[in-house]
Amino acid sequence: MDRNQTLFDRARQVIPGGVNSPVRAFKAVGGTPRFVQRAQGAYFWDANDQRYIDYIGSWGPMILGHGHPAVLEAVQKAALEGFSFGAPTEREVELAEEILSLVPSMEMVRLVSSGTEAGMSAIRLARGATGRNKIIKFEGCYHGHADALLVKAGSGLATFGHATSAGVPAEVVQHTLVLEYNNVAQLEEAFSLHGKDLACLIIEPIAGNMNFVRASIPFMKRCRELCTEYGALFVFDEVMTGFRVALGSAQSVYARAIPDFEPDMTVLGKVIGGGMPLAAFGGKRAVMEQLAPLGPVYQAGTLSGNPVATACGLATLKEIRKPGFYEDLSRKTQTLISGLQGAADKAGVPFCGDSEGGMFGFFLFKDLPQNYATVMTTDNKRFNTLFHGLLDRGIYIAPALYEAGFMSAAHTDADIAQTVAAASEVFGLL
Ligand SMILES: *Cc1c(COP(=O)(O)O)cnc(C)c1O
Repeated sequence: MDRNQTLFDRARQVIPGGVNSPVRAFKAVGGTPRFVQRAQGAYFWDANDQRYIDYIGSWGPMILGHGHPAVLEAVQKAALEGFSFGAPTEREVELAEEILSLVPSMEMVRLVSSGTEAGMSAIRLARGATGRNKIIKFEGCYHGHADALLVKAGSGLATFGHATSAGVPAEVVQHTLVLEYNNVAQLEEAFSLHGKDLACLIIEPIAGNMNFVRASIPFMKRCRELCTEYGALFVFDEVMTGFRVALGSAQSVYARAIPDFEPDMTVLGKVIGGGMPLAAFGGKRAVMEQLAPLGPVYQAGTLSGNPVATACGLATLKEIRKPGFYEDLSRKTQTLISGLQGAADKAGVPFCGDSEGGMFGFFLFKDLPQNYATVMTTDNKRFNTLFHGLLDRGIYIAPALYEAGFMSAAHTDADIAQTVAAASEVFGLL
């Protein structure tokens, strides 16, 4: 008996699509979602007690792997002290101090419970602080499911975007301008048309919601320059990349290549909660002091800065600070990608891949894509064959071609070798 199927059938009776977040449903790749029973280190076990090497890690948070002893201990201790108080705690201050020390562009931070909430609040704050309405986002970047951000490109620059979800009034997205990622000419045109009305530009610096696409250095530099020139806030959505690609997050990677580079605001999530519901947004003091209770921009949350979640986040950040952590993580991610490249080459399968820190992506074509349209030229059928081939061999990658992959500190060289061996077999079938 397939318990995954039994659970999925049961789930679909009571939960729309049987899942609480759409990509979990395997809609893009077909088949039955694996219901996770338990996880440890780099592995999880499904409802049939089948083991998988986990390259999703809860979509990024589990950078230490599952069930790290120091994190478990911190969470258990915090739980005994109380789940939630609705009053401030020392641990929130500690976590805020820790985040600011690791990401120096942030002078103040507010803790919330999800990346969606953090992104939505950052946009509101940018609008409140600048007194402007319009925002720029890029096609293929995901910033959570707030109404104003569920937008795809319209037919021209003057027309603004179209909602990508039912239930979002056209009036709500009329201020959201959607541009092509890495397109400098379009960026310049948009600023020359709308620059004085722009509250902010929000970007995934290394986009992980269209597989893995880096913003080019010249493009990133131009984003910074134009925001400064027109007085728009430059918002880095590092919910995925924060503490995932480097200890200083993606902004530290760009700061190595662009002198005096920093964003005005940063949105964090995923790794900072270590698997618990925790996210944050922050930036310059003058902007952050516009937030309630100090300023006129309202923002609040019953469970914000939750004591158990902050304990989990703090314990996670403490581990990633250890010397050599990112060197080791990067080496493993690179080993995986070069191993897959070698296997694909041997099988004559067109392939390319890229990684930064513990985040990676690969494509079933030759050259690394620069934007969403190119990512979407991936042959769905071949990706699905690869996905299911790996799944059958106990390797769990994202069940959609537009998602990134994640390495953890718990993955071993043997896990990676097993993954490459499985991929070699599957590439032979493509
Ligand atoms: C995951 C993600 C979000 C949304 O975070 P949730 O916690 O799922 O609401 C926002 N932005 C980026 C870049 C993300 O990867």
